[in-house]
Amino acid sequence: MAAESSLFPRVLPSTDVLVLGAGLAGLRAAISAHQTDPGLSVTLATPSHGPSGSSFANKNNALGMQVLETDDQVQACIQRVMDRATPGQVDSALVRVLAEESRARLQDMIAMGLKFDRSPAGSLQRRKGCFFPEHKSAVVFRDLGQAFSAFSSSFRDLGGDLRTGLSCIGLVSLPSRSRVVGALFRDRDNTVRAMQAKAVILAMGGPAPLFPRHVSDPGNSGWGLALLARAGAKLGNLPYVQFMWRDFSSGRFLPVGKLDSPGSGIINNRGDVEPLPEELRPLCASRRSHCPMSWGLADRAIDQWLISRMDWNATSAAQGTLRLVLPTPFGDEVLQAGLWAHAGNGGAVIDAHGRTSVPGLYALGECATAMHGADRIGGAMVAATQVFGHRAGADAAQSAADSSWERESDFNDLARLACEGFGHHPFSTDTRDELGWSIYTGLLHSQAHLPEKEMMERVESSPRRPLRPEDSLFQQACRLLLQGCRGRPWG
Ligand SMILES: Cc1cc2nc3c(=O)[nH]c(=O)nc-3n(C[C@H](O)[C@H](O)[C@H](O)COP(=O)(O)OP(=O)(O)OC[C@H]3O[C@@H](n4cnc5c(N)ncnc54)[C@H](O)[C@@H]3O)c2cc1C
Repeated sequence: MAAESSLFPRVLPSTDVLVLGAGLAGLRAAISAHQTDPGLSVTLATPSHGPSGSSFANKNNALGMQVLETDDQVQACIQRVMDRATPGQVDSALVRVLAEESRARLQDMIAMGLKFDRSPAGSLQRRKGCFFPEHKSAVVFRDLGQAFSAFSSSFRDLGGDLRTGLSCIGLVSLPSRSRVVGALFRDRDNTVRAMQAKAVILAMGGPAPLFPRHVSDPGNSGWGLALLARAGAKLGNLPYVQFMWRDFSSGRFLPVGKLDSPGSGIINNRGDVEPLPEELRPLCASRRSHCPMSWGLADRAIDQWLISRMDWNATSAAQGTLRLVLPTPFGDEVLQAGLWAHAGNGGAVIDAHGRTSVPGLYALGECATAMHGADRIGGAMVAATQVFGHRAGADAAQSAADSSWERESDFNDLARLACEGFGHHPFSTDTRDELGWSIYTGLLHSQAHLPEKEMMERVESSPRRPLRPEDSLFQQACRLLLQGCRGRPWG
């Protein structure tokens, strides 16, 4: 049977360091691995040819990055990240590394030719970031296509192997998950492939694509968390996905902190404007200082009030939406608002070198956590992709140089074992939609303390085996997010 044999992996040439994902985190790690030891083979595997991932998805074609210049700024940033971590968790040592090394990574990016906003006199322009409005410490670079070209050509110029058309569908581990020694892919011809590596860096982006409404790159898979869990990595902060209020027709993000302005409010079932309750109005000033909904600040009560007024029973596009009246530059407008998943703050808990709890496996960018808690300050994710990307690439290269290969026949056996349980049945579009809606309502209901609607049961009862590996990973990633928001152990 052709379909059966497609799950019997064909082996690709091995590589010393294997990086999964070509967003800002994966690209930085691949470059740093090569720079650390030019004698090693470094392979960067990604499904797409051109720019892909949230790193290059912003329709404003720009990204902000926290870069702390002075000791005072470093201290203020560390303090703020620690303050905004609850109810999530952070490791203060990682926060310090992030703040202290952001400057050096900015210099790398300038040297690569990235286009940062500058004043007419040539100095870098600085802006405020969400959750950290007191300091103008974020820099902005534009032309994300050019940024991708600069990173990818730097990697190729060093002799790196950028492999497109490979979508990772599994990791290959030694028995008892004691070490990761490679990865499984589906290639463009639908053939399953295996590649041995001495170090594997997972940088496949965050969970936003699992949600029915999201603003991350459509080419992202969203299941990096499931791969990490299957490999046995310790995970943290999973439920803390950033959600932004957005208008359906224009796609604009909505400043819900302006709900205290005269005439603003929600339009209720009777068609009347219901203003923000009096007791929530003092929270608006704080709410205006961040675009994503907060998981820890008192001003989340405004979002909770809005979520509790959403129409959760409507079908189709109106489900989980509400109508708002808000002041806009064009006067008061009636807007159809919903929450859109933007980026995840959870992932594998890493150390200062990007190492997960599983030997041989590193995690980066939106696949990693411990330098951000529940609420991430604006620009800190791009900084984290560079700081920990650089550190993980360097460490993976050193570790690969000191490691030996598995015997080819042993690796082939392990790769076959990793394919066990893989099936051929795809989800129906309905099942995928239902899972996406379950985590969307599950996370938002938990945030607003609304009664649950058997979300977990819906996820648990969705088809199990023999699913296509992609669908089984999608299902597991959804389960992990729901387990996280219900305080259950992750795994
Ligand atoms: C619209 C928008 C604006 C943002 N603005 C900012 C900002 O201004 N500042 C800030 O700090 N953060 C911002 N963020 C968040 C930040 O951009 C991202 O969190 C960060 O860029 C993620 O980088 P990454 O490398 O971890 O993942 P991504 O950039 O998402 O890259 C993931 C990579 O993995 C690949 N991949 C996916 N699945 C597979 C698979 N199965 N096998 C192999 N490869 C795979 C993808 O193709 C892609 O190459 C923004 C996010 C969005 C969506």
